[in-house]
Amino acid sequence: MPSPVSDVAARQIRAQQVRQLYEQAPLGVAANLFVAPILVLVLWDTLPRTVLAVWVLLLAAATLIRLALTAAFQRHADPDADIEGWVSRYTWAGATNGACWGGCVVLLALSPSPVYDAFIALILGGVLMGSALTLSPVLTACVAYALPVGLPPVLWLLLRDDPVRVAMGAAGIFYLLLVLGTAWYFHRTLARSLRLAAENLSLAQSFATARAETEETNRQLADQQAALRDSVAAMRELYQVISTPRRHASDRIQALLAMGCQRFDMAIGILCHVEGERHEVAYTVAPDGVINQGDVLNLADTYCRDTLRAGTLLSFEHASAGPWRQHPCYQKFGLETYLGVPVRVGEQVYGTLSFSAFTPRSVPFTPVDRELIQLMAQWVGGALEQERMAETAQRQQTLLAHASRLNTLGEMASALAHEVNQPITAINLYAEAGLTRVRNDALGPAEARETLEKIIAQSTRAKAIIQRIRQFARQGKPHYITVRLNDVFTDIMDFLNLEARRHQIELRYDIAPELPLVRADALQVQQVLLNLVGNAMDAINASPGPEARTLAISARAEPAGVEIAIQDSGPGLAPDVHDQLLHPFFTTKPDGLGLGLPISQSIIEAHGGRLWATPNARHGVTFHFTLPIASAAAPPEGVAVALSLDTA
Ligand code: ADP
Repeated sequence: MPSPVSDVAARQIRAQQVRQLYEQAPLGVAANLFVAPILVLVLWDTLPRTVLAVWVLLLAAATLIRLALTAAFQRHADPDADIEGWVSRYTWAGATNGACWGGCVVLLALSPSPVYDAFIALILGGVLMGSALTLSPVLTACVAYALPVGLPPVLWLLLRDDPVRVAMGAAGIFYLLLVLGTAWYFHRTLARSLRLAAENLSLAQSFATARAETEETNRQLADQQAALRDSVAAMRELYQVISTPRRHASDRIQALLAMGCQRFDMAIGILCHVEGERHEVAYTVAPDGVINQGDVLNLADTYCRDTLRAGTLLSFEHASAGPWRQHPCYQKFGLETYLGVPVRVGEQVYGTLSFSAFTPRSVPFTPVDRELIQLMAQWVGGALEQERMAETAQRQQTLLAHASRLNTLGEMASALAHEVNQPITAINLYAEAGLTRVRNDALGPAEARETLEKIIAQSTRAKAIIQRIRQFARQGKPHYITVRLNDVFTDIMDFLNLEARRHQIELRYDIAPELPLVRADALQVQQVLLNLVGNAMDAINASPGPEARTLAISARAEPAGVEIAIQDSGPGLAPDVHDQLLHPFFTTKPDGLGLGLPISQSIIEAHGGRLWATPNARHGVTFHFTLPIASAAAPPEGVAVALSLDTA
């Protein structure tokens, strides 16, 4: 297995060994300076003093060189840069010092007795041991010192004739080897411990790095998790607002602004419509009196102008702390915080959706905030577009419904003329009878009053019929109110009865007495009924066979709403007709428009109901439609506008 200690670490270990060598150098120098004078003093009276003086001076010089070198190393700013240079310098200085001690061989040669020999050998042995202790960090320095110290005296002793001196020489060889072995052992132990320390350091560093990395990753993960949670919460809020079933997009836009104000912690939410330099507040949520729906501002006085110019999201948290304080919007209204985006409807820029506050924001807007307002703007753009399309469709449907009503009136013109004619004829008769009696002087005041009252009643009746026909023919938007269906039927019944009589059709009713209230436009419901009854009568008239000519109208409450059915005994629907029934302009009648059923269907669907046809068991077809029940609490807001042909 490769060592985890890299080259760099190996160099560091070597540098530490060399530093230790230099750190221990003063100890060796001190030992030299202590031992050498003792040797000289002991031998002063025994050996030639000149020799001793020269020797001690040489040794002192070599020792001082070592000391100076040590001082230079310790003062050097970056000794590690030339570590091997310092090793070789110290090795040479040590070798010189060692050679001086090895020069003691001269003292041995001059020694007068074995006692002095032994004393000199003892001193040299101590010096050798000292070298093993102080120079072992760098083995070459130790060997370079120890060999010159030990070898010359040992060799000299071994070469003597005296067995004691030879024995001392042999012991010297042994000590020399022992010193070198010990130095090698110390060196290896030190190297190992330094290596271990380096490995530990490296491991500790790796561990610390890994820990820091893990902590950083955990922090990032926690941040991402928080952002994710935040974005899920934001999406949920947005979804709740836009998915709540409400009739009008405007309610949802209003709810969206309220949600944005709460989420971004801002006091004001505005959806503005911009045309040229005109900034109109289309929807707003704001503290009382600050800004209202319909307020018109100069675009240049708003941050919206900058949002529209940028064509993308614009935001700042503290206007007065930067260049925004020069903006007219800040100068006039003091808005400190702003977050806004352009809103597009289709390809066109509609205006902006923005949230603002009078106080600076302590925390910056998050990426989730930015993403959320963009989504809100997209949704608002879609909702406005849908609203526009729905308005266009509604306008077209109103026009078509009107055309269809006029058509129905045209089809029923003769019946209507007949009905209008009835009171007029009656008026005529009453007037003529009255006139005759006046001519005969037979009209007393009581009879005259009675005759006039009858004429007034008949003319009121005629007026009511004409008014209702005009109302039926009027063009207007649907008006949904809570309606009592029983009244709708009652009001239309006379007219239907008359038509049935005219076509010699037996008309039956099966209408539950207390139908639940429905939310509807009574005129439109009547229009649907007239369409379906008219079609049924046409079908019965077109029936070739001698079957009974019957038409049944029923109405009953079902869980889904009130279900109304018109059943006829006509020829029924051929399969190809059934598939195309609801297609606009599909007709099988020579003078038909093919609009009655599609318009009836769109009217019923606009009410939230459904229109469909089923074949009868024997002859004919039944058309059904439903109307949702109005909430139980809602009182009836009006009664049906009737196409009534009151026969009273
Ligand atoms: P129009 O009455 O002008 O033809 P509608 O949309 O009301 O237009 O009806 C479309 C077609 O559906 C009719 O032409 C007819 O063929 C068929 N239809 C409608 N009602 C009935 C019915 N009760 N019985 C048979 N066919 C019918």
